[in-house]
Amino acid sequence: MARRFIVDEKDIKAIDEKTIEIIGNEVKHIQVLRHDVGDEITINTKIYKIVQMKRETVVLEYLENAPIKGVPQNNITAYFAMLKNDKMDFLVQKAVEIGVKTIVPFFSSNVIVKLDDKGRQKRKEKLQKIADEACKQCGRMDSIIVEDFLKFNEVLNDVEKLQKVLFAYEAANDSLRIEIEDIKNNKYNNVGIIIGAEGGFTPKEADKLKEKDNVKVVSLGTRILRAETAALNLLSILVYEMEE
Ligand code: SAH
Repeated sequence: MARRFIVDEKDIKAIDEKTIEIIGNEVKHIQVLRHDVGDEITINTKIYKIVQMKRETVVLEYLENAPIKGVPQNNITAYFAMLKNDKMDFLVQKAVEIGVKTIVPFFSSNVIVKLDDKGRQKRKEKLQKIADEACKQCGRMDSIIVEDFLKFNEVLNDVEKLQKVLFAYEAANDSLRIEIEDIKNNKYNNVGIIIGAEGGFTPKEADKLKEKDNVKVVSLGTRILRAETAALNLLSILVYEMEE
């Protein structure tokens, strides 16, 4: 399949109804990979033929839409309590590769990271960039949304839009298997997971989550997993079980 490049719309100029000219970082990337006139490459979701290679731009002629691949069959929303920078970056990247659709970072009482409004905006943009790059690297043709940071109480409202949300709670003994079977039997395809921070959830927060009808508390076993381990463990199981 023609190698894929993700180009911001602002860097794409239409020359005529079949021809575009692109600028920006991906031009260098195309050059470094020694592409030349006549090569077929994918720009976002369309396949083009290179018709002109210039120093700062590449001119391409549209051929056809790229086959949609790598798009998960289900919408999984992951509510991740904010972790320290490198851990959160790692978690977002891996969650995208495994197949999450939406990431909602949130702040609960035990979150160590403190960010002011400007800091939150910058952090969110960085996480969105990591998600976009992970999408490209793993060949997903869809895009991932990293939502604005929520406060814990806002998460309690936000989860209501989903059919079922698995709340991974370190102090729980409740069976994950039962909930997975329920998701499969009901053919739910709009589900969520909730993972706490390094410091976990307070009992009060856990009780508030358990009060939600569509939130089901689940154990990931008798060992206490690091947040990023727990997140990827649960996400992997869910994606595997929900995909046909
Ligand atoms: N500091 C807490 C653990 C927090 S682990 C303690 O020592 O008890 C970070 C998050 O990973 C938890 O909030 C939970 O969402 C998830 N997690 C870790 N181990 C888990 C387990 N065995 N079962 C369910 N969730 C778990």
